[in-house]
Amino acid sequence: MKRPVIVLENIQKTYGSGDSAVSAIKEANVEIYSGETVALLGPSGSGKTTLITMIGCITEPSFGRLSLNNEVVYDGKWLVDDTRKVRREQIGFIFQSHNLIPFLNVIENVTLVSQMNGVPTREATKKGKELLEYLGVGDKADKMPSQLSGGQSQRVAIARSLANNPTIILADEPTAALDGERALSVMELLKKLAHEQNVAVVVVTHDERMLPLFDRILRVEDGRINEQLADFE
Ligand code: ADP
Ligand code: MG
Repeated sequence: MKRPVIVLENIQKTYGSGDSAVSAIKEANVEIYSGETVALLGPSGSGKTTLITMIGCITEPSFGRLSLNNEVVYDGKWLVDDTRKVRREQIGFIFQSHNLIPFLNVIENVTLVSQMNGVPTREATKKGKELLEYLGVGDKADKMPSQLSGGQSQRVAIARSLANNPTIILADEPTAALDGERALSVMELLKKLAHEQNVAVVVVTHDERMLPLFDRILRVEDGRINEQLADFE
């Protein structure tokens, strides 16, 4: 069943104060459901990263209310003791560059957060290997990040983002460093994940070719969010 896992109510973000204040998000009222893929599309500087990092409890909003999985996490201030804990337990984050830790091998990178959450190594490793298989890089478990191609690295980063069974996946331009075909296959994987595992997937993208893969498109324009009605199908 569809349930809203991300709810933003009049969320605003201003960086700085006085003359140098920048109103990055002026007003965001958005509901995102489990199992759907949502694109955040908009020009550079429009507020996409600010929005997605507020959802991910990395950037503190200036105003409004944010709920994740029916828990109010921000209402004028953080209502959770530790925003990192929310991230570790509920959210998978995928960045533009894969951010794999260079001195850990692939399976260690994938299982790091599970181990921080107290999952025993054996169990974390078993699950990590399943995820690598699922993402088509099962044979890379013992390789170092430097031995992988860009597309393989991004698949490993996706496996890592899934290791804690997140209900929400947030990705900020995850395919920017990949060529067209690899970018498409990474995005197709994210879509498959959303639909098969009922995860809410939110992706910042510039790439118009990806748009048909999304269930919904939110246009971010000068700090405001407008739903784009699907004119493709
Ligand atoms: P996008 O991801 O769409 O390019 P951002 O969310 O990064 O947009 O930025 C939105 C606006 O907020 C821009 O005007 C940017 O310069 C400003 N901004 C972003 N981060 C900061 C920051 N840490 N301090 C001050 N201004 C910022
Ligand atoms: Mg950005």
